[in-house]
Amino acid sequence: MGKKKHHSITPLSQLLRVPAGPVSLARYDSKATPGYPGKGRDDADKFTTAILPELSDLQERLYASSQTDPANAPRILIVLQGMDTSGKGGVIRHSIGLVDPQGVQIKAFKVPTAEERAHDYLWRIRNALPAPGKIGIFDRSHYEDVLVVRVDGLFPESVWSKRYGEINDFEAELVASGTRLIKCMLNVSYEEQRERLLARLDDPTKHWKFSASDLDSRAKWPDYMEAYEAALTLCNTEVAPWHIIPADHKWYRNWAVTELLREVLEGLDLQWPVADYDVAEQRRRLAALD
Ligand code: ATP
Repeated sequence: MGKKKHHSITPLSQLLRVPAGPVSLARYDSKATPGYPGKGRDDADKFTTAILPELSDLQERLYASSQTDPANAPRILIVLQGMDTSGKGGVIRHSIGLVDPQGVQIKAFKVPTAEERAHDYLWRIRNALPAPGKIGIFDRSHYEDVLVVRVDGLFPESVWSKRYGEINDFEAELVASGTRLIKCMLNVSYEEQRERLLARLDDPTKHWKFSASDLDSRAKWPDYMEAYEAALTLCNTEVAPWHIIPADHKWYRNWAVTELLREVLEGLDLQWPVADYDVAEQRRRLAALD
């Protein structure tokens, strides 16, 4: 079967998947556009829009399966991680926002609240997992517990260093119970982040998006890259692999996450549920009520 022309010829999940072994982010070009079937920015809307009918159909099949067989219906969980301005919110608006909102569960993880701090770090994550038939999106995730926590020394190394293994176990458990994980690191460059932060400062309508703490994390860029590399290396398992999405071009980033989601849904080979009633009989009853 020939690939439609708005799809990547080699599956994107393959192109963007992080190979096993140590990750060096310096070797990932954040301006790259792997698998993009068009020319660039000018045709990106067209290519992203072209995915939508198929994405809607697949999402509806996913939801339908949860209505008839909730215990066995798959769940999708997209984990979005990335430095400030890498576009976690943008992806949610321009990519996942294209799917029926009723089928989507979005959760943004902020600094843990007092209640959350009173529990294990995975407690709030478990509470936010997608229901059967739903597409969950995590804007930040349990990975903050090995990123900001490690960089800012919020817990000693003896605590965070154990978390990589714990996260792998947790994710393996999720996958075993029917969740497909799509882990995306939105890889924005240091230079592009500067431009995006400056754009926020230059435009009064974007001032609300800027926070002085963004500069505090920017000042620790090398430490963050090291922490990301550790997470991308140590939590890149066969069942829950990482994808690195080049994120300097917003149009590519949005297309890529949309296409990744489509590929994963397509791979589930979701069938429409078969009616558990006699269709002919219901048709006769309906006719009788004319
Ligand atoms: P985003 O960039 O995700 O849209 P934001 O920067 O606008 O979010 P904030 O209100 O700043 O939103 O919340 C995110 C902040 O919460 C980040 O600084 C992040 O590092 C922090 N955070 C998230 N999870 C944790 C955690 N487990 N421990 C400590 N800090 C965390």
